[in-house]
Amino acid sequence: MVNATTTLDGQPFSRAQFEALLKRRLFYTEAFEIYRTAPNFHGDNRGLFDYGPPGCALLNNIINEWRKHFVIEENMLEIDTTGITPEPVLKTSGHVDKFADWMCRDPVKGEYLRADHLVESVLETRLEKSRAATSDGKNKADKLDDATAKEFEEILAKIDNYGGPELRDLIKKYDIRNPNGNGEVQDPIAFNLMFQSTIGPSAASPVYLRPETAQGQFLNFRKLLDFCQGTMPFASACVGKSYRNEISPRSGLLRVREFLMAEIEHFVDPEGHKHHERFSEVADIELPFLEKDTQLSGKTTLTTVSIGKAVETKLVDNETLGYFLARVYLFLVKIGVDKTKLRFRQHLANEMAHYACDCWDAELLTSYGWIECVGCADRSAYDLSVHSNATGTPLVVKEARPEPLEITEWKASLEKKLVGPRFKKDAKKIEAAVASLGQDALGALADELASKAVITVPTAELADGKTSVELSSEICSIDKVTRVENTREYTPNVIEPSFGIGRILYSVLEHVFWHRRQDSARQVLSLPILVAPTKVLLVPLSNNPGFRPVVKSLASRLRALGIANNVDASGVSIGRRYARNDELGTPLGITVDFDTLSNGTITLRERDSTLQVRASEDEIIEAIKNLIAGTESWEQVSKRLPAFTGQGQDGQGQDGQGQDDRWDN
Ligand code: AMP
Repeated sequence: MVNATTTLDGQPFSRAQFEALLKRRLFYTEAFEIYRTAPNFHGDNRGLFDYGPPGCALLNNIINEWRKHFVIEENMLEIDTTGITPEPVLKTSGHVDKFADWMCRDPVKGEYLRADHLVESVLETRLEKSRAATSDGKNKADKLDDATAKEFEEILAKIDNYGGPELRDLIKKYDIRNPNGNGEVQDPIAFNLMFQSTIGPSAASPVYLRPETAQGQFLNFRKLLDFCQGTMPFASACVGKSYRNEISPRSGLLRVREFLMAEIEHFVDPEGHKHHERFSEVADIELPFLEKDTQLSGKTTLTTVSIGKAVETKLVDNETLGYFLARVYLFLVKIGVDKTKLRFRQHLANEMAHYACDCWDAELLTSYGWIECVGCADRSAYDLSVHSNATGTPLVVKEARPEPLEITEWKASLEKKLVGPRFKKDAKKIEAAVASLGQDALGALADELASKAVITVPTAELADGKTSVELSSEICSIDKVTRVENTREYTPNVIEPSFGIGRILYSVLEHVFWHRRQDSARQVLSLPILVAPTKVLLVPLSNNPGFRPVVKSLASRLRALGIANNVDASGVSIGRRYARNDELGTPLGITVDFDTLSNGTITLRERDSTLQVRASEDEIIEAIKNLIAGTESWEQVSKRLPAFTGQGQDGQGQDGQGQDDRWDN
């Protein structure tokens, strides 16, 4: 059974210990911390974080791996677009009107609460209390009857499917109040999540900080299509900060107001079932799915099937979406996600973003519950169509047809000589109305025209206030015509995997955190070598001056190979130095000791097992290179090179234990 409260090593997960480690090692910190107590500093300035050195290195390493795994692997066109976005762009995309969450106000406390989170947390607490209570004795009043408990569980399973009116009904029905003070809350209202500002000294033009990087990619679609010589499908990518004015930021990095996103927009021909030419490479990968029907039935049971089967049975709509789900899975596991704490949850109809037609979230289990870390949406042709309509710029692909296509269709023609004099100022509107008639409408009107010699066509409002016009067969004719098309024109569909890097980073850190069995104070972050902030720790056994040149030259050799390393020559025991770097997730450690001076050998320690091998500098550096490149595992290295068990002249035991007295020797 997967349990967020269990660490890699099956120990109870302590958030307090974990957070203390992240703080101690400066992975990240709340922004403006020293201003928190300053006068006039408003408490609303929350949900903003600064990354410290290890957090920043980890973030960069995750992004570098993301680039390798997606951008380079798939020849994506990465761009860097601006974050400040003029209002018309986001009006067109739908964000100005629809990018909102429902919030309730507690009029007594003056607090604003996100409505779905309020319902969720109150019902969860009631369920927890009920589980803890016994029906006869302790806290009897908290005990829920079976039917109510089941109702609560069902609501929680589909909490993302409720809009404002449904949330209002739930709040009323279950008398849900602000947990802080137990005050009643007002009905939910929509709160737009975008930060608004104006640009330039006139302040006349409203702008927003972008809530996603996607729009910049859509606006550059035509140029990108030209850049890749019109080759379809193709994908663009963008890494950059996005901004969302979250109602109540909480849970550390998980819900913040400024965060790094990495987004891919994969443009694909909607005809041909969105096949993906590399789908066979991932078809056998098994993924855990939480389907929408399961959620609607109030359950959270996972279905684990191969992505090949999932697409075949239409659980996942198409190959391209399926291909990305599998690639997202491989990426997450590669950077340290525990695969037993990963699931793909399908969006419910109400929850789907205004643009999406099928959507799956990669969710990671943390001590805060299941968290959406990557959203994979099929945005159909929505974005390109709306921006094209708003700007009059065709955002389409034109392809030469292999064979010319003969098309027979209805065509309406107006007798221009008569239209102008008869309809005067309305003439243009009537022409536009006729031009916009679809084939079905034209077919029906052709019959009507043949039988009655007059038809009624809907129009925009005319001078006399009417919204239709009668056209006689003298003015309008509708005939079947045949034309030959040599090119095909279509608006591509977009499959979008969208990564929240901060959430991924936090979840990975939780997943790789554990402590050594013999001592809960000796905590470890088992970060994969690929993303670990520092790859190698260099420790001289003591402050003996003979060690310094060796350490210096090793550091420079590693630097020359691009291997991030750190020298710890502080005056504490080797054990303490290793323990400190275990907390930073440093996977390898080299010790320079007295044997190094006599025979040129050094030891290499592996963080998780604390086992060490001993060999020449060249052999150890070769092993490090292999470990980083993934061409050799630690198991292989430890079989190939002689184990170091601390029998040498320095008496160093496994993990440098018992070295405290040696410093200053
Ligand atoms: P969305 O466009 O809402 O699907 O979000 C895309 C991704 O951005 C999510 O999967 C999250 O990883 C991340 N994300 C969204 N909102 C936040 C937030 N307030 N704080 C941190 N990450 C976020």
